[in-house]
Amino acid sequence: MAWQGKILRVDLAQGTCVSEPLNMDWAAKFVGQRGLASKYLMEEIDPKVDPLSPDNKLIFATGPLTGTGASTGGRWSVVTKGALTGAIACSNSGGFFGGELKIAGWDMIIFEGRSPKPVYLSIQNDQAELLDAEDFIWGKTVWETEDLVRQRHLDNEIKLASIGAAGEDGVMYAAIVNDRDRAAGRSGVGTVMGSKNLKTVAVRGTAGVAVDDPKRFLAAISTASDRLNATADRDRRAAIGTMAMMDVNQAWGSLPTRNCQDVQFEGEENINVAAMKKIRASDGKANLMRNKACFACSIGCARVSTMDPSHFSMKGKDDKYTKPEGGLEYESAFALGPMCGVDDIEAATYASILCNEHSMDPISFGATLSAAMELFEIGAITTEDTGGMVLEFGSAEALCWAAEVTGTVQGFGRELGLGSKRLCEKYGHPELSMTVKGQEFAGYDPRAMQGMGLLYATSNRGACHLRGAAWTEDYTDVSPKGRAPAVKTAQDGMAFYDSTGLCMFARGGFGDDLVAEQMDAALPGVWDAERIKITGERIWNLERQFNLAAGFTVADDTLPERSLKEPAKTGVAAGKVNELDKMLPEYYELRGWTADGVPTSGTLNRLGLE
Ligand code: SF4
Repeated sequence: MAWQGKILRVDLAQGTCVSEPLNMDWAAKFVGQRGLASKYLMEEIDPKVDPLSPDNKLIFATGPLTGTGASTGGRWSVVTKGALTGAIACSNSGGFFGGELKIAGWDMIIFEGRSPKPVYLSIQNDQAELLDAEDFIWGKTVWETEDLVRQRHLDNEIKLASIGAAGEDGVMYAAIVNDRDRAAGRSGVGTVMGSKNLKTVAVRGTAGVAVDDPKRFLAAISTASDRLNATADRDRRAAIGTMAMMDVNQAWGSLPTRNCQDVQFEGEENINVAAMKKIRASDGKANLMRNKACFACSIGCARVSTMDPSHFSMKGKDDKYTKPEGGLEYESAFALGPMCGVDDIEAATYASILCNEHSMDPISFGATLSAAMELFEIGAITTEDTGGMVLEFGSAEALCWAAEVTGTVQGFGRELGLGSKRLCEKYGHPELSMTVKGQEFAGYDPRAMQGMGLLYATSNRGACHLRGAAWTEDYTDVSPKGRAPAVKTAQDGMAFYDSTGLCMFARGGFGDDLVAEQMDAALPGVWDAERIKITGERIWNLERQFNLAAGFTVADDTLPERSLKEPAKTGVAAGKVNELDKMLPEYYELRGWTADGVPTSGTLNRLGLE
């Protein structure tokens, strides 16, 4: 029936692993991954809990289509109360870990409590045990951890989701990295994992996944895959991946540059797709080697790169960085490039690789560094604070150094590990933090993209472009008109889609009709457009309920002063700011919320959330 019907509950304080049945009523209402794990979190923790206390829980969740063979059906999510934000956090990842976990027989793992000493969880189908990590992998990088666990268990097919030093030692935006370079990256989910003394989850699965109507399901995934593979969008994603957005945002004037002081970057041509493909004089290779795909994916949007061995950052390093590794994606490239004023693609690649190796979210790391660079520019941070490093915008040396000291949590790296909000508050300039609910902006400036501003302001996990953007409208004009309904519809659609096990990059190619057809064939009951729509809206409102109970209010649905008061200097939005005040009241009304952003009892009743 696509769900395995089983949860693994891991009590880290007691050292126990217990199988329990999945709540099928909740699964029918909240699907899987983001939706279902959010329901469990809401039921099982006090939303006011300190995210780093043992009372917070950490949930690894697959979707019903994860591991089934549906194209792109390898997604999995981490849901918890975010360390960075204090809001509900859901970070979604690809790679092979999620498919392996599902095939091993588990819909979810719920981690509770805190282990008295570092441990890791080993899963082989229905067998699960906590093992000592202290003198084995604690303190090791993500990559060392993957190698060492596979060696100890004599199995190269084990898939792992791990933290490095950033997660162990309290970098507030630590990620959980699987398959070396895929990450549940945002909101500090890796920081929560570290607080629980949990180093890695190592899983091997051979049990398989059953679906409700196998014959119909095979036909549905075949039709969906054929349609997806025939699209130009699929070809573009395979050829240039997410990096395509660098040129798009540069042209539109929505490329966050130097901590959003600018919206276009004069060095953009040195850090875009063409630059990735340029043959280097030093070794005759390009930065970009090839693309690669996650579990069961017929797109393959991920980038594989090699570092230039003659780059200054490689001096004195062993050759591990000059071997093929996960390369720059747009979000890492904008944050480590234009946001810091850096146009050195090798430096940005190195910093991105370090984020994977040590488990950091490259968006939050890059944006925090850019805030630190602005603090340095105005004299609020000095070389005395940094230990001598000149933290200037545009300095590739500063970028590489900062990634090293933050990833290994040394010296000024501890300050950078605070995240932009806490750092700017500490150094006396909270207005310089480009964050919402404590989470750093993604690579889209909200002055040129009005709907993106509304999305950042209302996103349940803090500023995020993946929670339902009004892409078409935002790249058509810079008016706030029509953004409230477009953002609401997109948010509800993404909330459902993030709960299925499929990758968002396939959604347009499949079309919503074939998403519904795959779900309907895989699961019991009827999964049609109407059920999908209301389920997405239910999940969005459930997350909102969590945040309201955690203490967030209407005052948190806002943007930094820079987005609202400092007009963009260039691009299509030159002279304009984000007009959030024109969009937010309409958005609340469309959602069936009060003027204070609280869902009315009628709305909760309609969605089955009372
Ligand atoms: S489209 Fe890209 S991110 Fe999505 S599953 Fe495929 S390779 Fe992974």
